[in-house]
Amino acid sequence: MKKYDYVIVGGGLFAGTFAYFAKKAGKTCLIVEKRETLGGNLYCEDIEGIHVHKYGAHIFHTSNRKVWDFVNSLVEFNRYTNSPVANYKGEIYNMPFNMNTFSKMWGIATPKEAEEIINRQKAAVKGEPKNLEEQAISLVGEDIYKKLIKGYTEKQWGRDCKDLPAFIIKRLPVRYTYDNNYFNDLYQGIPIGGYNVLINALFEGCDVELGVDYNEEKEKYNALGEKVLYTGMLDAYYGYRFGKLEYRSLKFETEVLDEKNHQGVAVVNYTDRETPYTRIIEHKHFEFGTQEKTVITKEYPTDWEEGMEPYYPVNDDKNQELYQKYRNLADEEHLLLGGRLAEYKYYDMDKVIESAFQLVEKELQ
Ligand code: FAD
Ligand code: UDP
Repeated sequence: MKKYDYVIVGGGLFAGTFAYFAKKAGKTCLIVEKRETLGGNLYCEDIEGIHVHKYGAHIFHTSNRKVWDFVNSLVEFNRYTNSPVANYKGEIYNMPFNMNTFSKMWGIATPKEAEEIINRQKAAVKGEPKNLEEQAISLVGEDIYKKLIKGYTEKQWGRDCKDLPAFIIKRLPVRYTYDNNYFNDLYQGIPIGGYNVLINALFEGCDVELGVDYNEEKEKYNALGEKVLYTGMLDAYYGYRFGKLEYRSLKFETEVLDEKNHQGVAVVNYTDRETPYTRIIEHKHFEFGTQEKTVITKEYPTDWEEGMEPYYPVNDDKNQELYQKYRNLADEEHLLLGGRLAEYKYYDMDKVIESAFQLVEKELQ
C-alpha cells in the first residue's frame, strides 16, 4: 500500500477538478506543484486590495450547464461581461467584430452596408481559407484584418499570419448586431472574491508540496502514489527525447498607478505592430473595484525557452506531429494525463474542466 491513491503533478484547474472528485470518492491525493502557488494560470495576487491576474486575464465563460453548475457550487460568480476595446494607433474600436466596429471603421449604420463592404473585400480569398490571414479576410475583410488582426496576431504568435492555423481566429465572434460581448457563451463571470476562492475549494483536503519539479524527482513521487496523474508538458515528461514542442510565452509588466481609473475597461488590445505589448489589463474592472489606486499589466508575447512559462501551445502541423509521437508513448504506458500542457491544446477553462470530467468518469466511477 502506497501513501496516496493519487500523486497529481501540477496544481492547475485540471488537477484541481480531478482532485475534488477523487476526494469525494474517498481517495487521497498529493499535489506536486513546481510553482510556489496553486491554481496554475488562474492564480491571483492581492495588490492594493485588487485581485491581480498574475498569469494573464482570465474570464470564465461556458455554454456547458454541468460545468457552470460545478464552478458555481464552489464559488458565486459576478456579472462581468468581457467587452475589450482595440487601440490602433490611437483609434478606438469595439471588440469583438460587430456593428460598433464596422460603424467606426467605415462610417456606416446598417448590417446591410457592413455586409456589402465585407463581401467586396473578402472576394480576394478564393476557396476554403488555408491559413489565418485568409480566414480573417474572409470573415471581416481587408480593412479590419490590417488594423485589428494582423499586427496583434503577429506579435502574439511571432510569425506571419500566413503561417498560422485558421482556427485561432475562429475563436472570436463576428456579429452583425451592436453587441460588444466578447463571448457567445450562455454563462460568464468572475468568481466573487477572486479565482483563489475557487482554487482553495478545489484543493481542500489534499496534501500539497510546492516548489517541486516532478520530472526531477520522478522515482520519489511515483513511490508515494498508487497512480500518477500528470498535467505538465508531455515532452518534458519524456526528457524531450524526440525534440521540443514549441510554445509561446508571455512577460508581464505590472504597475500600481496612483489614479482611480486608468483606461475605463479591463482589457485594451494594442493592435498595431509597433507597440511591443499586445494588451493592457486593468484588473479592478473585472470586479467593479472602487479602490483609490489601480493596477495595470502590460502583456508582452515572447518565444518560449526552457525555464519560461509555456502559456500557449503552437498547434501547427509540425508540432502536432511531434506531440503525437509523445502521446503514442504515453498511451502505450497508460499514463494518466490532462490539461492544456499535457494535451497540448489551446483549451479555455471550461474545456479543461470538461476534459477533467471525462477522466473522472473513466477513473473514479
Ligand atoms: P495550468 O494552469 O498550466 O496548470 C498546470 C500546472 O502544472 C502549473 O501550475 C504548472 O506550474 C504545473 N507543472 C507543470 N509541470 C510541472 C512539473 N514538472 N512538476 C510540477 N508541476 C508542474 N481560459 C478561459 O477560459 N478564459 C480566459 O479568459 C483565459 N485567459 C487566458 C489568458 C492567458 C494569458 C492564458 C495563458 C490562458 C488563458 N486561459 C483562459 C486558459 C486557462 O489558463 C487554461 O485553460 C487553464 O489554466 C488550464 O489549466 P491546466 O490545469 O490545464 O493548466
Ligand atoms: N486577435 C486579434 N486581435 C485582437 C484580439 C485577438 O487579431 O484584438 C486574434 C489573435 O490572433 C489571437 C486570437 O484572435 O491569438 C484569439 O484571441 P483571444 O482573445 O481568444 O486570445 P487569448 O485570450 O487566448 O490570448
